Amino acid sequence: MSGPILLPGATGVNGDGQPVTLGVMGGGQLGRMFVQAAQSMGYFTVVLDPDVISPAGLVSHYHIQTDYLDQQGLAQLMQRCAAITTEFENVPAGALVTLGAARPTAPSADAVAIAQDRIKEKAHLARSGVPVAPYAVIESAADLAAVTDALLPGILKTARLGYDGKGQVRVSSRDELAAAWDTLKQVPCVLEHMLPLAAECSVIVARGWTGERVHFAPQLNLHRQGILAVTQAYEGNLPAGLAQQAVAAAKKIADDLNYVGVLCVEFFVLADGSPERTALGALVVNEMAPRPHNSGHYTLDACDVSQFDLQVRTLAGLPLVQPRQHSAAVMLNLLGDLWVDGATPCWDQVLALPGVHLHLYGKLTASKGRKMGHLTVTAATASEANATALTAARLLGIAAF
Ligand code: ATP
Ligand code: MG
Repeated sequence: MSGPILLPGATGVNGDGQPVTLGVMGGGQLGRMFVQAAQSMGYFTVVLDPDVISPAGLVSHYHIQTDYLDQQGLAQLMQRCAAITTEFENVPAGALVTLGAARPTAPSADAVAIAQDRIKEKAHLARSGVPVAPYAVIESAADLAAVTDALLPGILKTARLGYDGKGQVRVSSRDELAAAWDTLKQVPCVLEHMLPLAAECSVIVARGWTGERVHFAPQLNLHRQGILAVTQAYEGNLPAGLAQQAVAAAKKIADDLNYVGVLCVEFFVLADGSPERTALGALVVNEMAPRPHNSGHYTLDACDVSQFDLQVRTLAGLPLVQPRQHSAAVMLNLLGDLWVDGATPCWDQVLALPGVHLHLYGKLTASKGRKMGHLTVTAATASEANATALTAARLLGIAAF
């Protein structure tokens, strides 16, 4: 279904004013920031999430507390909403099929089905002609036996339901590979060759119902233990040629999916002089996320239009404008590790630094590796943004970058 134009605010405010309402599947922090962007434009919002105290459910006009496949929950969502989006890729594609038959739903069930399954995703990327890490699909003992030594050392990743490095095991021998597949309960997996990385970056593209698209410049991302830790977003963070190549690849991937909404494509930059770089080129696609992305959170504070504004605009059929970044930005993820000894992090000292924007997601329990919030430092120059972010990291006990 294509999308009508859903102007924000209530319709018929001089008669029986009806709020124009947007819905989101999933109640995590991405849903929360979508809801906040939608509300600031005058939309009402509905979140469907089984969790009683989800970050997005807490701030939405309505919260439907059911499972993602609950027919009554989906019916309520369709009844309340003029259009529906999703905030995480593990929403069952079947739920999006149901919703998409009745309401404009973006991204589509088809696009989400591809992004939520690494096997389908890799096949799609290959069709788009963008390089991916050498890999093998592991679905049977025979697949395991057929793995070539060239894929080792490698990372075994579950085809579905992984995030923040969960569902991944690094392996350096065939024995380790067999043991890892057992650990992952022999579910369908991909084994990827471990590539020598010089850096990682990502590109966020927004594409509308009629194929028009805008993008943010590539972000430079640092991961620790498989979790995004730091994003640096400013001119010169990547060589210009590489940045252009990444943007072109992300747009191609979005076009080939006939994608509507905000799409993030994550890339590996391969180490200079490595045989892998000689074979594959400098830039390899890691994966895509059919939604706004953690690496784009800086756009809330450093750009005139954020990734969440663009999610609202794509969904509602509003004009897309090319975002303009007005400040250099460095984003630090705030993981549950900062709270584990029961102490409150020293926000007073951090907020005394210039250009610090604190975002906490309203989560009431912290655990190691859980994303509790993020902090973006904006500044006139990259070196100022980095210096202030390093000070904030030191105050909070986050490792320097
Ligand atoms: P996300 O939270 O982004 O959804 P995820 O759980 O899907 O993460 P990946 O993006 O597949 O995980 O991997 C997490 C990180 O592990 C990558 O950002 C990268 O640092 C490292 N990594 C993954 N695959 C490879 C590879 N083939 N070679 C080298 N490093 C890798
Ligand atoms: Mg990733």
